[in-house]
Amino acid sequence: MTARASDDPRDLPIPDAFARRMAALLDELDARAVLESLSAEPRRAVRANPRRATLDEVVQLTGWRLQELPWSPEAGLLSDPDVTRPGNHPLHAAGAFYLQDPTATAAATALAVTPGEWVADLAAAPGGKATALGARLEGQGVLLANDVHRARVEVLARNLERFGIRNAIVTQADPSELADRLAGRFDAVLLDAPCSGEAMFQKSLDARRDWSLDLVRRNAQRQGPLLDAASDLLKAGGRLVYATCTFSPEENEGVVGETLLRRADLHPAASPLSFVARGHASAVGVEEVLPDEAVARLWPHHAPGAGHVITNLERVDAPPPETRRSGKKRQDLAFKPPSRTTLEAWHTFRTAALTGVDTDLENEDTLRERAGVLWRVADLDLLDALSGVTVLRPGLALGRVQRDRFEPAHALAMALDPSATHSVVELSLDGPSLPRWLAGEELDVEERDVTWSGDGSAGYALLVTAGMPLGWTRRSGTRLRNLYPKGLRQR
Ligand code: SAM
Repeated sequence: MTARASDDPRDLPIPDAFARRMAALLDELDARAVLESLSAEPRRAVRANPRRATLDEVVQLTGWRLQELPWSPEAGLLSDPDVTRPGNHPLHAAGAFYLQDPTATAAATALAVTPGEWVADLAAAPGGKATALGARLEGQGVLLANDVHRARVEVLARNLERFGIRNAIVTQADPSELADRLAGRFDAVLLDAPCSGEAMFQKSLDARRDWSLDLVRRNAQRQGPLLDAASDLLKAGGRLVYATCTFSPEENEGVVGETLLRRADLHPAASPLSFVARGHASAVGVEEVLPDEAVARLWPHHAPGAGHVITNLERVDAPPPETRRSGKKRQDLAFKPPSRTTLEAWHTFRTAALTGVDTDLENEDTLRERAGVLWRVADLDLLDALSGVTVLRPGLALGRVQRDRFEPAHALAMALDPSATHSVVELSLDGPSLPRWLAGEELDVEERDVTWSGDGSAGYALLVTAGMPLGWTRRSGTRLRNLYPKGLRQR
């Protein structure tokens, strides 16, 4: 019997050819330090969801020690060796924070999104950056979050939902399909491109095993068209961030430089990230078009984290937006105005369960229904322009009619402030009921760490911890039915 191969990537040697390329790009000390860092223990950052809590509040509630990250005010480096499974903390389920590579948090900072903008994240799964961009929009404007891989798009959608982001449209498409339909419409676009993943040498066996110069070249080839699609989506004056988790100049300065040489409508822009190293445009002969200042290189020996390369660009000129409708509307999947039954059931639920302070939910113009699910669409024009594209979520799922009653969606619970509901069940963060709830058990309102407020006449109550939503419950006598989605339960 052969011994089981170790699954720790650091047991595999770093490819020689990669080491030689680092030695050619950097001075000797830096090159050696990069290789050592890529074999160090991976680090993690906790990035707070400003819609739920500040980073200080996350620290207070968890008791974790975090160190500041200069490029991300919402994130801190987890430097507490005793914290072993931070993803299992109940506040993670409540969407208070996202666990992310510390250097990856810089990409959202570089895009500098403000509330109300139209933002697209083209290779968004599993959502590390999309959740940060969505939170920065503060529910205004729209986030188009896309990826090509179906299973990964599902995870992306769940993470956006966990963060309570209600104005995200989630699609599964090649970015060129999006550019065909939505050219010239966006204020800001992030392309966190698929790449050879050299920074992943720290944590991915596949990244070490599969790396080759040929892989670098093949990735550079596929990144060019993706960057073109990202650029086409921008309006004049729109901002673009091109990011990778790889160090090869071919996939960073090379792809960007060649795109700039071809496109007069695209310019480099100064990177807003300070305290970071700059680009290596001359390594790929594009220094004439791409100044090193536009490129931020977060090297793993300079900063905690695996490493990221982030380039800021701007579209200076764009044809006026037009909506091209390619492909036929697929009627079976189309979002339609809601049926009377669904609308009436929603009214009944809304009146009984919601207080009316959330005025967004009072507006019925943006409601659409597909396959029985009622949605609050983030933007109707955008959804219309997407006909023919696979849209997993057009905005916020409100719920569906089942057994003659409106069953509210988990996404709706996660997008609500407790003041928007008549009945709230608070579970204390450190009591025994919370883990039981997250595991799918029923609770009793008379338990000591459970506090009920409201009259219960609506049936449904929002279940919260530390004032943050976790999902719906339905009260029957003193019992609280567990409506936490089965796929999210912690066993
Ligand atoms: N932005 C993500 C985050 O912060 O969580 C990580 C993105 S990862 C570096 C690159 C992503 O590109 C993968 O999710 C992969 O599925 C996706 N991808 C690969 N080819 C693509 C394509 N042609 N169009 C869009 N996304 C693609």
